[in-house]
Amino acid sequence: MTTVCIIGGGASGMAAALTAAAQGRHAVLLERQARVGRKLLATGNGRCNLTNRHAAPDHYHGADVSFCAPALERFGVDDTLAWLEELGLLTVTEDSGRVYPYSNMAGSVVDVLRYALEDQGVEVHTGCTVTSLRRKGDCFTITTEDGQFTARQVILAAGGAAGSQLGGVMDGYRLAKGLGHHRTALYPALVQLKTEPTYPRALKGVKAQAALEIRRDREVLARGSGEILFTEYGVSGPAIFDLSRTVSTAGDGLMLHLDFLPQQQMEDTLALLQRQRQRSGSRPALTLLSGALHSRLGQMVCKAAGCTAGTAGELADEALEAIARQVHDFTLPILGTCSFDQAQVTAGGLRTDEFCPRTLESLLVRGLYACGGALGSGGACGGYNLQWAWSSGRLAGRTEHEA
Ligand SMILES: Cc1cc2nc3c(=O)[nH]c(=O)nc-3n(C[C@H](O)[C@H](O)[C@H](O)COP(=O)(O)OP(=O)(O)OC[C@H]3O[C@@H](n4cnc5c(N)ncnc54)[C@H](O)[C@@H]3O)c2cc1C
Repeated sequence: MTTVCIIGGGASGMAAALTAAAQGRHAVLLERQARVGRKLLATGNGRCNLTNRHAAPDHYHGADVSFCAPALERFGVDDTLAWLEELGLLTVTEDSGRVYPYSNMAGSVVDVLRYALEDQGVEVHTGCTVTSLRRKGDCFTITTEDGQFTARQVILAAGGAAGSQLGGVMDGYRLAKGLGHHRTALYPALVQLKTEPTYPRALKGVKAQAALEIRRDREVLARGSGEILFTEYGVSGPAIFDLSRTVSTAGDGLMLHLDFLPQQQMEDTLALLQRQRQRSGSRPALTLLSGALHSRLGQMVCKAAGCTAGTAGELADEALEAIARQVHDFTLPILGTCSFDQAQVTAGGLRTDEFCPRTLESLLVRGLYACGGALGSGGACGGYNLQWAWSSGRLAGRTEHEA
């Protein structure tokens, strides 16, 4: 029986191992951590946003965005959900298209995969770090801290550098480099932004809906919308994560522009403020926005407009205009992103032009395959990265070869 060795027991590695085993191969899964699926357990804040109903190539990035299309087409969202259901997992889809386990626990996803590995006879070695990978004749020699393995085919599923506390390491790139592969520059992506901290620190823990733009001077480099969360050092939340790739790669001099009431025009906001001034004239000026925004955010917006004391009734028209401007264009100088420790994914990775997109086999080394976060092809926030892990893992696990 042909032996396929899978390096890495994350989402993509487990998908690859189960596929190889289902094809009658002897699948050997090597995982450096004490258990498989450690990162998977932490996904979606412990709920595991395992895919997204809208997953399609246009939600993915990388040097060649079309690279991920064949894998997503051959094993898409419906195939993934049918496969996971067959393994015993019930799921639920939210209005946004995000799919979660019905139990709301990432542990359920890890458990069904773990049991399937056992049931399908995958040979799993945990606490087993691969230190080198060599090609000898028709076979690979895989050296670990505990001994050597030999396999006709190797699937590199060692993930990227992101989420270092959960097992994100550089090993996949290093092992591939030993066989002649290259990687692109690496940046943290789907990660919190560090900004000038005065306002965010005061708003720590406050969530808000906003339209966002990343600008350098007048040039808009990226825009988005959704929930943001103020933190000790800056801003976080799904809408921020989606813009973080731009911040990682665009250099210095960036500003974050936030519109807290994007559904209405500046004139509407001004009219609202005028009504509030008339209605609540004797109340503190800082309470003017309390019916529209989170109370702490409303106060901060008033302060940013220079209205720190006095009553609402004492505010001049110019002061109301300044507040309305802050509501629609609250700016924070961006200092950078947080590090790989906090990042969900790595922007960049193994060069995708060195792998065949239809099989995920290396174009340089026959019998070597790669999948998941190790490849320089990441997705947006919302389940897209795990979909890539499932799709690419399933494709690599077939160990196909194009003549
Ligand atoms: C906090 C957090 C939350 C996230 N939430 C979501 C979410 O809700 N939805 C979503 O779609 N994506 C999410 N992601 C991204 C998603 O987890 C990854 O895209 C996905 O796990 C990648 O799977 P993978 O198998 O390629 O890599 P990994 O899951 O990183 O697995 C790689 C495995 O390889 C092992 N390994 C590395 N080197 C070696 C070696 N030398 N020898 C043996 N084993 C090795 C590692 O220990 C690891 O277990 C999140 C990421 C993080 C960090």
